[in-house]
Amino acid sequence: MELLQPEDWPEALEARAAHPGALPLWGGTDVMVDLNFGRARPEAILDLTRVRELAEWERQDGMLRVGAGVSYTRAISELGDALPGLAAASRTVGSPQIRNRGTIGGNLGSSSPAGDALPPLYAAGAEIEIASTRGTRRVPIGEFITGPKRNVLEPDELIAAFHVPPAAGPQQFSKVGTRNAMVIAVCSFALALHPDERRVGTCIGSAGPTPIVAAEAEAFAAGMLDWDGGSPPAQADLARFGELVSAAASPIDDVRGSAAYRRHALGVPARRSLTWAWGDR
Ligand SMILES: Cc1cc2nc3c(=O)[nH]c(=O)nc-3n(C[C@H](O)[C@H](O)[C@H](O)COP(=O)(O)OP(=O)(O)OC[C@H]3O[C@@H](n4cnc5c(N)ncnc54)[C@H](O)[C@@H]3O)c2cc1C
Repeated sequence: MELLQPEDWPEALEARAAHPGALPLWGGTDVMVDLNFGRARPEAILDLTRVRELAEWERQDGMLRVGAGVSYTRAISELGDALPGLAAASRTVGSPQIRNRGTIGGNLGSSSPAGDALPPLYAAGAEIEIASTRGTRRVPIGEFITGPKRNVLEPDELIAAFHVPPAAGPQQFSKVGTRNAMVIAVCSFALALHPDERRVGTCIGSAGPTPIVAAEAEAFAAGMLDWDGGSPPAQADLARFGELVSAAASPIDDVRGSAAYRRHALGVPARRSLTWAWGDR
């Protein structure tokens, strides 16, 4: 198997264009598992780890631009204030070793419905920056992921970065699993309050073919919350919010949990996240 090791971003894009069958790699925490289990046999590996531009993040026009090669560990330590939902999700990923190697760009590249970085990015309204030698385009995350482990990347394209507004209000992430660490989510839930716009962002993970925005629950919460007075939501309204989140899920039965359990379980983090976020604002 050929190993391509571009030294910078233009070289990486050239290599991608010249070898569309090559499999990009950063942390390798998904790629190496697929290679070891014989699930992937690419003609070449495109190792991006020398492309330092990918590991940078910056503030740009009031938004954050976070390179595809930023690890979970760095998201926690460097972006925790600006993106608390993503940082909370990052803390639940794997083990310290996986968080040191694994990247949010890799989570996007894998496009698994169970990817923990994805729900906070949906709830916050992230866009993915995609690049090739033909140019650059930005795609809302909800359009980037098209199905289980599928996305809109063309064979000559790479993920450059994601763009996301810094949190304008509290953000929460909850993950239901069979234990506290090293676990793939049975289901997960991300919530972002946008008090300036009187808007609530949500996303369900691991309970559908892609992460799912609970649009009805968002509209209900935005209308029900006491944005002016600040009084806490009534129990009945929290229960309704939980029901609407559960109803938005499209889960299946699998080894990690039944569809019925997932639907039931989702109502709990939904209610709690809204309570906690409202209390934090
Ligand atoms: C023990 C273990 C525990 C884990 N626990 C969790 C967990 O709790 N939660 C979770 O969500 N995941 C978990 N994972 C999965 C994995 O760690 C994550 O999906 C991680 O984000 C992958 O990042 P990476 O940099 O290692 O990606 P890689 O393995 O290098 O790549 C992943 C995919 O993205 C593509 N890719 C990478 N960079 C780019 C780019 N710039 N442009 C285009 N495509 C690109 C690759 O070709 C590949 O398809 C775990 C994995 C292991 C082995």
